Amino acid sequence: QLNVEIVTIGDELLLGFTVDTNSSFLGRELSALGISVVRHTTCGDNIGIIVNTLREALDRTGAVITTGGLGPTADDMTIEAVGKLFDRPLLRDESIATWLDDRWAMFRRRGPMPTSNYKQAMIPRGAEIIANPVGSAPGILVTEDNGHWVATLPGVPREVRAMFMESLRPRMVALAGDDATVIRSLTLRTIGISESAIADRLGDLGRGINGLSLAFLPGIAGVDLRLTSRGLPAAEATVALAAGAVILREQLGNSIYAENETSLAAIVLDACRVAHMRIAVAESCTGGMLGEHITDVPGSSDVFHGGLISYDNRVKRQLLGVLESDLAEHGAVSEPVALQMAKGIRVRLGTEIAVAITGVAGPHGGTPEKPVGTVWIAIDVSEGRPPVEPPEGYPPVTPLAKARLFHFAGNRDEIRYRAAQAALDMIRHTLLDMPTTPAI
Ligand code: AMP
Ligand code: MG
Repeated sequence: QLNVEIVTIGDELLLGFTVDTNSSFLGRELSALGISVVRHTTCGDNIGIIVNTLREALDRTGAVITTGGLGPTADDMTIEAVGKLFDRPLLRDESIATWLDDRWAMFRRRGPMPTSNYKQAMIPRGAEIIANPVGSAPGILVTEDNGHWVATLPGVPREVRAMFMESLRPRMVALAGDDATVIRSLTLRTIGISESAIADRLGDLGRGINGLSLAFLPGIAGVDLRLTSRGLPAAEATVALAAGAVILREQLGNSIYAENETSLAAIVLDACRVAHMRIAVAESCTGGMLGEHITDVPGSSDVFHGGLISYDNRVKRQLLGVLESDLAEHGAVSEPVALQMAKGIRVRLGTEIAVAITGVAGPHGGTPEKPVGTVWIAIDVSEGRPPVEPPEGYPPVTPLAKARLFHFAGNRDEIRYRAAQAALDMIRHTLLDMPTTPAI
């Protein structure tokens, strides 16, 4: 078992201006390779403290990855610290100097390169270079005779990810060995079911499935269930996780909408593609958040046609055809208004399905009958045939209008977010309930 320590370097981390995302990235990636991260340390831009921190970590664990302090300015001193730590002089590496020159020329910058940039070509004697495919500062890997090593990565998270994946990860795989046992996870994402309801349904399975641990991760987008395999080689872990996912799906059915990072919007877009339907939205209290969630997904334009933020009642009346009398009698947050908003936007934009949201996001505007968090969401489905010629045997679309009342908990942001997610989930369930196409 290979143990590693991570040392993140930078005053901005200690002052709290920058959140240390490099450690969490490295922790996930290394544990997935079967390498244990046994400690994180953060220190400021001070040469003496950096040397001491590295020496302690090296004495304890023998393997250290640093991030930060690789730039050309005076506050970047990680390389100098590694030189001091191993008592090796810094020598100019001509391959890095040439590479810096080429990069400077490639970006067609005017004039000669500032000499301070050449600081990045100075590395401890005998250091290996860790190539940086996206930034200017390369990293180094220095190994002592006793096998202890320090690898340095830059501070900018995008560069850390690229450099780790392309240059350092292959070396770590080699160090960890083939038969390394790994820590791997698979996340199943649920919506519309509470953490406790999931626990009830799972019963004893909630404590773990076939040796996999199960974590309940409630979040604003729903409850994620993360299965984790420890102590198995990579291939066996993958098989065990897939088997665990099958068992969870048996218990939770359609409450599970996706795996890992996939968003609900992405799932809904795919379902609409299969059903040959295009989406329009009318939003009141969410103010465009639903449209944002949908358009966050690359390639959404074939399904998502657009929407309207009908915040003021005049907009609901004039552009969506909501009846003045219903607004007066039932209020803007009501079933008839939600239904008319959905139908209004669908007809105006000529799509097959539309969803509308109207609610009280707070903190003001709640009443005893309609407290903050009250949200009506409506769906309207066309009776027409989809404009895209459906495949042979495609069942006709039945017209449908339905609305549902929700009471969301949380502050203004959370209520709006939950409403947008619930609207997507209503589309998902509408499509799940419809006869869909034979496999395309
Ligand atoms: P440096 O390579 O030390 O000059 O860092 C460059 C930039 O990377 C800093 O301005 C920080 O915003 C960012 N950064 C440095 N360390 C971290 C870290 N551990 N996590 C996330 N961002 C970081
Ligand atoms: Mg720095």
